Amino acid sequence: MTRARHLIVTAIVCAFAIIAVGMGWLSSVDSALRDLRYSLTSRPASGDIIFVAIDDSAIRLAGSATAARGLYARAVDVLDAEGARTIVLDGTLGDALDAPWDMTLVEALMRAQGKARTVATLSQGPEGEPVVDMPPDRIAALAPPVFIDTGLRQFTSETYTTRISHQGWMIESLATALTPERAVPETEFLIDFAIDLDTVPRVTLSDLLSGRFEPGLFKGRQVLVGFAYYSQQSSRSVPRYTMLSTPSVQLLAAETVRQDRMLIKAGPLPVMPIIAGVWLLFAVFRRQMTLHAAIAGALTYGGILEFTALVLQVHAGLLIDTAGIHLAQLGLVATAFWYELEARGHSLDSAARERDSMRGILMRVVADNFDGVVVVDQTRTVRAASRLAEEVLSPGLLGSAMDRVLPPVFRTALEKALDDGTIMDRVSEEVIACGERERLVEFVVTLSTVEAGEVNSNSGGRVACLTFRDITERRAVEKQLTYLAQHDPLTGATSRVKFVEDAEKLLATPAGRGRGASIFLVGLSRLKVVNDTLGHAYGDALLRQVAERLGQMGAVSVARLEGNAFGVLREGVLGADEGRDYAERLIAEVARPYTLNGHHAIVGARVGMTDSDLSGCSADTMVSHAGLALSIASDRPGTGPLVFSREMDARIKSKQDMEVALRAALDGGEFSVHYQPQVDLESGEIIGVEALARWTHPELGNVSPAEFIPAAEETGLIIELGRWILHAACQEVASWPKPVRLSVNVSPLQFEHGDVIGDVRLALATSGMAPERLYIEITENLIVAETSPVIDTLRTLRAEGVRIALDDFGTGYSSLSYLGRLPVDTIKIDQSFVRGLPDDAEASAIVRAVLMISESLGKHVVAEGIETQDQAWLLRLGGCTVGQGYFFSRPGPAAEILTKLTLAEEDFFPAWNMTEFCPKIEKV
Ligand code: C2E
Ligand code: MG
Ligand code: MG
Repeated sequence: MTRARHLIVTAIVCAFAIIAVGMGWLSSVDSALRDLRYSLTSRPASGDIIFVAIDDSAIRLAGSATAARGLYARAVDVLDAEGARTIVLDGTLGDALDAPWDMTLVEALMRAQGKARTVATLSQGPEGEPVVDMPPDRIAALAPPVFIDTGLRQFTSETYTTRISHQGWMIESLATALTPERAVPETEFLIDFAIDLDTVPRVTLSDLLSGRFEPGLFKGRQVLVGFAYYSQQSSRSVPRYTMLSTPSVQLLAAETVRQDRMLIKAGPLPVMPIIAGVWLLFAVFRRQMTLHAAIAGALTYGGILEFTALVLQVHAGLLIDTAGIHLAQLGLVATAFWYELEARGHSLDSAARERDSMRGILMRVVADNFDGVVVVDQTRTVRAASRLAEEVLSPGLLGSAMDRVLPPVFRTALEKALDDGTIMDRVSEEVIACGERERLVEFVVTLSTVEAGEVNSNSGGRVACLTFRDITERRAVEKQLTYLAQHDPLTGATSRVKFVEDAEKLLATPAGRGRGASIFLVGLSRLKVVNDTLGHAYGDALLRQVAERLGQMGAVSVARLEGNAFGVLREGVLGADEGRDYAERLIAEVARPYTLNGHHAIVGARVGMTDSDLSGCSADTMVSHAGLALSIASDRPGTGPLVFSREMDARIKSKQDMEVALRAALDGGEFSVHYQPQVDLESGEIIGVEALARWTHPELGNVSPAEFIPAAEETGLIIELGRWILHAACQEVASWPKPVRLSVNVSPLQFEHGDVIGDVRLALATSGMAPERLYIEITENLIVAETSPVIDTLRTLRAEGVRIALDDFGTGYSSLSYLGRLPVDTIKIDQSFVRGLPDDAEASAIVRAVLMISESLGKHVVAEGIETQDQAWLLRLGGCTVGQGYFFSRPGPAAEILTKLTLAEEDFFPAWNMTEFCPKIEKV
C-alpha cells in the first residue's frame, strides 16, 4: 500500500469516527461505558439525607393512597419531633382539602413551622405540553413546594434540572432545596450515578410511625418521604441502575449536590482532536509496526484512555465520551488488518509465482537432464520426463500411464517405491527392450513427497523418480578396453599383463603350486629380414601366424611379450628333458615356412625356458628368468633351447656391473689399442697389424677382451667402443712410416645396429689412410645366410676399396661350399687348428683343406695363433702366405710395434732360417 493511500484510508476512518461522535451515533456506547465507570467507582451516600419509604403496610393502615395524606401528617409530626432539618413530602396532594386527614396535615405542617416542603411535579400533558402540578395553595403556603420532574424525561435521565419558573414563581428543585448552601449550576447538572443508592439510610413509614428506628437517626437530617414502589409512570430510566423510582432519582440528585459531585459533560469537542492525534500517530508509525504491535498499541492506548476518563470522572467530575476514540482506533486496527491481509495476499501471490517459476525450472532441469528421468505419481501417471527418457523409452511419456509406457523392470521398481516406500539402495543394471533394440541401462529409483501443484502433481503426496542411463556403448567400450589390456592388438595373443596374470592364476592355490608351471619364451630371428624385404604388413601377418601356431601347442596361454618375442605358458613342471623337447617342437613349428600373400618366408626361433621349480612361484620372476635364458640363447647362435639356471641369474647381475664399468671406462679413457703384427711367411717382413682392444681397469688391472667384448656386445656399448678403436687405430697406423695394412675387428652388433659404412668412411677420411690398407675382420656367424643385409654392407665396403677378412674360420657354421660367393678377401684360420699343428692329424688335415680350397677360390689365408717356428714353417709350406702369433710377436702398444716395424728383417727375426727348417718339412 502506498503512503498516500494509507494516509487517505486512515483519515477517512478517523473522519467517520468524528462524524459518528458529532451525530451522537455512539451515545449508547458512551452510556454503556459510563455505566461501567459508575459501577467501578461506586461511592457511599453521605447519610445526611434519609428516605422514609411509604410502604404497603402503611398504605393499608391508611386505607387508601389518598388517605395517606393523613400518614404524611403523622410522619411530619414524628420527624419534627425527632429533630429532622427538612422534611420533603413527595406525593401528589391534589386540590381538595376537604378530608379530615387534610386538615390533620395542615395542622402538622403548621406545627412543623416551615421545615416541611411539598413537591410540584412537572409532567407531560395530553398534547405533550409541560404540565406543572402544584400542591393546594394552603398547603403550599405552609410547606413551599420543591420541583421534581416526573414525566418530561421518559428515557435515560442523567441531567437534573435545578429550577423551573411557573406562573411567575421560580420553583427550586428538590435536590438544590435540600442543600441550599451548595452553589449549583443555573439550569441543570449531571447526577453522579456512582453514588450507591443502597447506602442511603431508609426507614419505612410504618416503622417510623411505630417508632421502630434508631433514636436520633433523624436529628438534623433531611428527610424525603415518598413511595417506595415505582410504577411505569413514576419510574425513570437512568444509567447504572437502569430503572429507578422518582424518589430514588431525587435522592441521588440530592446526594450529588450534598457531596458536591455535580458532573460536567466534556461533550464531543475535546474528543475530536484526540481522534486526530490517534490518526497522526497511526499514520506515522503504522508502517514501522507489525499488526500485533498495532493491536497491542491500540489496546494499551484504549486502556490508558479509559483510565484517564475514569480518573477525570472521579476526581474532576468531568464526563468524557470515549466511544468515538475507540471507534477510530478500532477502524485503524481494522485497516491494519486489511493491510496485513493485503500484504499476505501479495506474498502469497509472489510465493505462488515463485513456486510456479521453480516448478518451471524443475521441469526444465528434468527435461534437459543428460540422463533418462521419469517422475511418476501415486496414480501411476508419468508427471515429468526428460527428453532422453522419451528418446530411449517412447515419445509422449508425459501424462501417460506408467504401465503403458515403461518397461516391466522399471515399473516393478517404481511400484515398490510408491506402494511400500522401498527405494533402491544401489544402482541396478538391467537389459531393457527399446523397440527393436536391446539396451543395457543402469538405474535407480528415489522417492519424494511433493505438495499439490509441484512437479505437475495435482494431488501431492508421494512421487517416485526413476533415473536411468544407457550404458550399452560404455560397456562395449569398457569391454574393448579390457580386451586391449589383455590382448596384443596385432596378433590377438594375450598381453604381457594377462600372461603374468594367467601364470599367477595357475600358481594361486596350493594345489596349483604343487603342479607348478613352465614358461617358454620364443624369440623370432630374421623377422627383420621379412620386414625389410617384404614390408611390415607381411611381418605383421607373419606374427599373426606365429601366434596362431603357438596357440595350437597345447599351452594355457600364449602371449606376445615384445616385438618378436612370444610367451608360452604350460601347466605343470615339465622337467629338463620334456621341457627341451617341447621347446624344440615350438622352434620347429615356428620355423616352418610361411606363406604370406603369395610370398614365402622363413624365420628362426630361439627359446628360453624355466619352470616354477627353477624360478619359484612368482609369475613375474619366471617370465624374467625365461627372458634371460632367451637372451643368452639369442647371443649364442646355434645353441638350442636354453633352460634357466642360477648362473644365468648371476651373469645378469655381473652384466649390470659390467655395463656401469664399461661406460665409465669409455668416458674415462681406460681403453687403448694394442697391435699384433702380421708377418709375410715368405720374407718374414711385417706386412700388417691387427688392432686389438685393451682395457686397463684402475683396480682390476688388465681385463681380457674375452671378458669385456661379450659384455660390451650384450650392453650395446660395443658400437661406441668399436667406432673408437677403428678411429684410433686408423689414426695411429696411418702415421707410421711403413704403409702396413691394418686389421680391425668389427662385431656383428655393429653391423646390426651401428653404421659400419659411415664409421669406416669417417675413419679413413680423418686419418687419410688408403682404404686398401684397411681389413675389416668379421666373424662367420655374421654371414650365415647369403641373403643377410650384412652382405650388402660388405659389398659396399669392398667397392670402396676396403678388404674383408673372415676371422676365426672353422669355428662357425660357414659352409665351404658357399665361401666363394661371399664378399671376403681373406680367411683367417682359427688358432684352435693352428694349435694342433704339427702333431694333431685332424687339425693338420683341416688346415690343409682350408688352404687348398682358399687357393682355388682365390682367397688369401692368414694363420692365427702361430706360436712355434714349426707351425710357421708348416703353414708356409702349405701355401699360407701370412701368419700371426706369439711366435712373431705378442700384441703390444703402438710404440713397441713401431720399433719392431723399423728394425731390419734379420734383426726382427734372427731365427728365421728356411734351410734349417727344410728337413722337418720333409718329415711331415
Ligand atoms: P681375434 O680377432 O681372433 O684376435 C686374436 C687373438 O688371438 C688376440 O687375443 C691375440 O692376442 C691372440 N693371439 C695372437 N697370437 C696368439 C698366439 O700365438 N697364441 C695365443 N694363444 N693367442 C694369440 P685377444 O687380444 O685377447 O683378443 C681376443 C678376441 O677379442 C679377438 O680375437 C677378437 O675377436 C676380440 N677382440 C679384440 N679386440 C677387439 C676389438 O677391438 N673389437 C672386436 N670386435 N673384437 C675384438
Ligand atoms: Mg681378429
Ligand atoms: Mg681370430
